[in-house]
Amino acid sequence: MSGIPWWVVGWAVVIGGGWASENARRALRTRHKRKLERLAAEERKQQALSAASKPPEPVCGCTHHLAKHDKQGKCHEIVEAPTAWDADKKPVDYEPRPCNCQQYVGPQPLATVYAEDIVDLE
Ligand SMILES: [Zn+2]
Ligand SMILES: [Zn+2]
Repeated sequence: MSGIPWWVVGWAVVIGGGWASENARRALRTRHKRKLERLAAEERKQQALSAASKPPEPVCGCTHHLAKHDKQGKCHEIVEAPTAWDADKKPVDYEPRPCNCQQYVGPQPLATVYAEDIVDLE
C-alpha cells in the first residue's frame, strides 16, 4: 500500500463491494425475470400446441357435418327450403330439399387426412 491511506482502501472495498453486490442482485433479478418470461413463452407454446392437436369440428360452410358429405364432397343433408312467403317476405311454407352444397369446405379431421394418406400409398 505505497502512498494510499488504509481508509481509502477500506472505502473502496465497501463502495466497490456494495456496487458489485448491487450488480449481482440486478443480474439475478434480470435472470429471474427472463426465466419467468421463458416460462410464460413455454406455457403459451404448450397452449398453442394443445389447441392445434385438438381437431376442429369438421363442419362445412353449409353448416352440416363432414359425415353428411359424400366422397365427392357433395352434401346429402336434407334442409327445409322455403316455398311460400308472406307479405313481409317471411317464409310460411317449407319443403324438404337436399342441401345444395357441392363441396365440403370445412376443416379436415386428422384421422381423415391420415386415412387418405394410406389410400394414396396403395
Ligand atoms: Zn350441407
Ligand atoms: Zn357442405
